[in-house]
Amino acid sequence: MIDTLRLTVDEASALLERREVTPAELHRAYLDAAANRDGELHCYLRTVENGADNATGVPIAFKDLVSTKGVETTAGSKILAGYTPVFDATVAARCKNAGLGLLGKTNMDEFAMGSSTENSAYGPSRNPWDPSRVPGGSSGGSTAAVAAGLAPWALGSDTGGSIKQPAALCGVVGLRPTYGTVSRYGIVAFASSLDQIGPITKTVRDCARLYGIIAGRDPSDTTTVELPEPVELPESEDLKGLRIGIPKELNEAEGIEAGVSEQVGKALERARELGAEIGECRLPRSVEYGLPCYYLIAPSEASSNLARYDGVRYGLRSGNGDVRAMYDRTRHDGFGDEPKRRIMLGTYALSAGYYEAFYGQAQKVRTMIREEHAAAFEQFDILVSPTSPTVAFELGARTDNPLAMYAADLLTIPSNLAGLPGLSIPCGLSEGLPVGLQLIGRQFSENLLFRAGHALEQALAFDYVPERYR
Ligand code: GLN
Repeated sequence: MIDTLRLTVDEASALLERREVTPAELHRAYLDAAANRDGELHCYLRTVENGADNATGVPIAFKDLVSTKGVETTAGSKILAGYTPVFDATVAARCKNAGLGLLGKTNMDEFAMGSSTENSAYGPSRNPWDPSRVPGGSSGGSTAAVAAGLAPWALGSDTGGSIKQPAALCGVVGLRPTYGTVSRYGIVAFASSLDQIGPITKTVRDCARLYGIIAGRDPSDTTTVELPEPVELPESEDLKGLRIGIPKELNEAEGIEAGVSEQVGKALERARELGAEIGECRLPRSVEYGLPCYYLIAPSEASSNLARYDGVRYGLRSGNGDVRAMYDRTRHDGFGDEPKRRIMLGTYALSAGYYEAFYGQAQKVRTMIREEHAAAFEQFDILVSPTSPTVAFELGARTDNPLAMYAADLLTIPSNLAGLPGLSIPCGLSEGLPVGLQLIGRQFSENLLFRAGHALEQALAFDYVPERYR
């Protein structure tokens, strides 16, 4: 019997090495778990029955914006319904080359726009800790699948927080890598200067493993670079000499729940016991201007990226008549409210006469945010805060209020705008729901984040199996 709720990728790899299980048996075990639990959770948009053909490793799930040759890829949108890529995204090809079979494609907010998966055109996913609550988003299908034992690991994407935030809400580990370390070739684009693909796992070691498989320069994505050092699987048990900065504004922002602060405070106590030096620092403008800056830059880039969906090349085609009517009808029928909202915002911000006042100004603010982070990293090796101001909220609680939904990423957006890596690890429970701890590093400091995250994870001993399944 394979206990998919508990099994880590480390352990699954050991079972495979000792030939105690085959890749096909592992694959079957996760699809069986999905057959049992996914009716309630809706993590998968589709599973792949023959995904273990030619596999030699531990199976994986991909957020449905990773192009997969021969497997429908919708990005959670009706406009891409029926679109089956003729090639693999680079990250998919790398997983395939590493022997990982595909379990399926996971649910997500449409075009990765959202913080709850409720913007999926195919209906929301639910949080395995409490199905009346959201798993977070936009990679909520991937994080819920890992939390519920429906996948041992998964890929998500993070533009403003879409790996870190749902990882926090589901009690799993998520890494948003340094911008430029993971290829975006074959990823359905949202905001190209921010989008990054990253791992979602149960443990920090598994996260490092998957990052090692997907990261590195890709000639097909000219924004990628070679990693400065190979990815190391963390072993360390202490934090001796590590200088941890606590950005005041990220830790005291309005809207952070008391229960969240309490768990983060406890985790910092453990960090101190493990030998870290902890001090306060400031990121005042990053937190004040992060959200508005992001909500100009991301929609601007989205309005340009989403211009390609016109009924000619992909998925849906509506309207019969002239070509103009086909464009209009296809976009009218195919996009949900949130992409439409962003396309309008972005088109406006980029239009002649407004470009400098909105988009140009936001770029300047972004530079300021990058500089503010760089100053903090002169004194500290890692910055720490809650990942999400709140634990998982009820389905429907924020759907009528886009600004409340946007605020879910208040604490993840600033470092994303600065291009920095961020790791979220579960650090405790508040009201029976997981709380995430965000560790932000310098560019290319993933190995340090893994070491620190692993040491803390050992000390905190968070049980990642949702209580209702134990
Ligand atoms: N919630 C943010 C948004 O809707 C972030 C999404 C993401 O990281 N893809 O834009």
